[in-house]
This record gives sequence, C-alpha cells and structure tokens, in this order.
Amino acid sequence: MIKRYLLAPGPTPVPPEALLAMAMPIIHHRAPDFLPVLESAKKGLQWLYQTKNDVLIICSTGTGGMVGSVNNFFNQGDKALVINAGNFGERWTKICNAYNLSVEEIRIDWGYTVKPDDIENALRKDPSIKGVFVQASETSTGVYHDIQAIAEIVRKYDNTILVVDAISALVAHDLRMDDWGIDVLIGGSQKGLMLPPGLAFVGVSEKAWKFAETCKSPKFYFNFMTERKKLKDNQTNFTSPVSLIIGLNECLRLLQTEGLENAFRRHEKLAQATRAAVKAIGLEMFTKESPSNSVTAICAPKGIDGQEIYKNLRVKYGITAAGGQGQAKGKIFRIAHLGYAGTFDTITAIAGVEMALKGMGYPVKLGTGVGAAQELLMV
Ligand SMILES: *Cc1c(COP(=O)(O)O)cnc(C)c1O
Repeated sequence: MIKRYLLAPGPTPVPPEALLAMAMPIIHHRAPDFLPVLESAKKGLQWLYQTKNDVLIICSTGTGGMVGSVNNFFNQGDKALVINAGNFGERWTKICNAYNLSVEEIRIDWGYTVKPDDIENALRKDPSIKGVFVQASETSTGVYHDIQAIAEIVRKYDNTILVVDAISALVAHDLRMDDWGIDVLIGGSQKGLMLPPGLAFVGVSEKAWKFAETCKSPKFYFNFMTERKKLKDNQTNFTSPVSLIIGLNECLRLLQTEGLENAFRRHEKLAQATRAAVKAIGLEMFTKESPSNSVTAICAPKGIDGQEIYKNLRVKYGITAAGGQGQAKGKIFRIAHLGYAGTFDTITAIAGVEMALKGMGYPVKLGTGVGAAQELLMV
C-alpha cells in the first residue's frame, strides 16, 4: 500500500464532515425536506461571494459555469475582451469563439499578470466591448490578476460587464463581489470549496441580469433566467445534485466556523511558505509576478522534465500534485495549497519535492525547503 496525498489545484481533498454528510440517503429534490437544504446553500454562497445577488447553483463542472456565462449574457457578434494569460484564459477565447462572439485578446506572457491600464485603454478605444473575461487565479501559471482594479475600470462602462472565472480563487482570495462591482463571478466545487467535482456556482449582478434579459442566444440546459426563478423557491431547474449540495452546506459551515478572513490568511500563509521553500531549495518560480494563494507554479531545474517530477512524486511518494499545461508542459510542476489544506499538507508537499528532486540527481540538502516553510508556519 502507498498512502495517497491529493495536493493538486483541483480536485482537492474533501473533509470527513462533508464525506459523511454526502453518504446520507438521497432525498427527493422536490420534496419539502430539500427546501431548507437549498435555502441554506443559497445563503452560504451569498456569504462566501460577499454579495446580496443571486448565486446560481449549476450541476456541471466549473467550465459549465463559464459556458453559461457566455451564452446567457451575450449575443452572436458581441465584442468580448479576453485576458489570455494562460490555459484558462485561452479557454475563455475558445468558449467565446464557439458562441460566435467577436473576440479581442489581451495576450500576456505566461507567468505574468494583466496590467489594468491595458484593459482601460482597450475599453476607451472600443466602448462597444460588451464583456471583459478574466481569471482571478490563472491556475496554469499560478498568477493572481488584480480583480479589484479591473472591476473599478469596468464598472465605469454601462454597456460592459466583467465576467470573472474565480474557480480556483474562491476561498483562497478575498473577492468582494458587491463592493468591487464584479458582474459575473464563477466558482466550482472541487477547488477551494473542498467538494467532489460536479457543481458550478455563478453569482450575477443586477447589471448582468439586464444583459440576460436582452440575450437571444439559444439556450436550454444552462438557462440562468430560469435558474434564477427556481432559486427563489429553493429549487433548481432540473434534478438537483442533492448529495453535493448537502456536502456544500457542510463545507460552508466549516468555512463559516473558520471565518472568511481566516480562510484567506490560511491560504496566503501556505502559499508564502511554499514560495520560501522553493527559494531555499534553489528553484525558480514560474510565476513572475502577483503569485496566487491557491497554487504555486515552479520551474523544473535545468535538465529535468517537469512531468517527470510530477510522476516521481505520485509514483514514489504517493503525492498527486500537478504538472504543466499547454506551453508549460514539461517545463514546470505545480503544488496546490487549496481548500482543505493546512500546515502539514504543505510540509508534505515540500518534503516530497526535495526527495523526488534528489532522487533525480538535483543537488538539494534534504530538509532545506521544509525548514524554510516551518519557520513561516510556526504558531
Ligand atoms: C479548474 C478550473 C476551471 C474549470 O475546470 P472544470 O474541469 O471544468 O471544473 C476553470 N478555470 C480555472 C481557473 C480552473 O482552475
């Protein structure tokens, strides 16, 4: 037997409290017992999203929430400004193209963050841009984009909404939907929310609902206006993923006990400790600026394949971290500190990296990175 450790940026480990709650017998989604379950999830999500707006609960992975956020608010031919700074920014472009939006990209070298001024300039030059699409945390490069600054710009344009993929950022980063003026905020279950895959969450502002009212794009399964109506009665349009929503309530309860600020700080500390270890081991960060609290992207040392590090960690040490995606494949590996994560998950990850690297011929004195992380994680 080899004991397994899940330290990937999604799916992430599920706390035992949630696992147990999800093992309960299925209740019927139209029966009265389910109504308080959905009501509680609805309120908990508004707390997490820091919003009074509706937060839709969709039965799909996070990408379903992204797809719905394109075809419920935009028509064919509408102009979209996509911040493409990695694999998930690229996904925005692909989805917008699939629905025949007219896409303009701000392309950013992998590892770097968008300059809000560039968004401001693009909007000033072309006020017909109807949507700005961005990631909060670009999971493929480990970069956090300054959503507060971007929202401040977009909210000045009455005919433009800001659509944020926060699937890997929720719970790890402070994202104030109402205060900052984020119009569409997308989350997923299997990242910071510590659940199995299968739920997407979409927070929608009043400004964005106006876009939905005039949207003619064909839709059936992902119909946000219908979901909004159903949500008022504590229902979803189709069969609710009952077990996942019961688990969601359990995870939200755990987070509420911890407190939102404390959850952000926990992620921030784990991220800082991971970066300190990377430096101590003599590795280079792949993320060049504004590192995310969710995941740390690290360059593979010269002559060592990043995918091999990922494989070594998994096969020899039972640690499932992540390799690189797209153009970064083979060049990097990534370690998550997301969701149900604490001090000894990070210590485990760093110890594993040291052992794997040493085994591959990289000169590292065992314990160097672990020690650096321990210094920062002591209480
Ligand atoms: C994980 C992730 C997604 C969605 O992935 P799914 O596999 O559809 O759940 C989207 N965006 C980002 C930034 C992610 O990290």
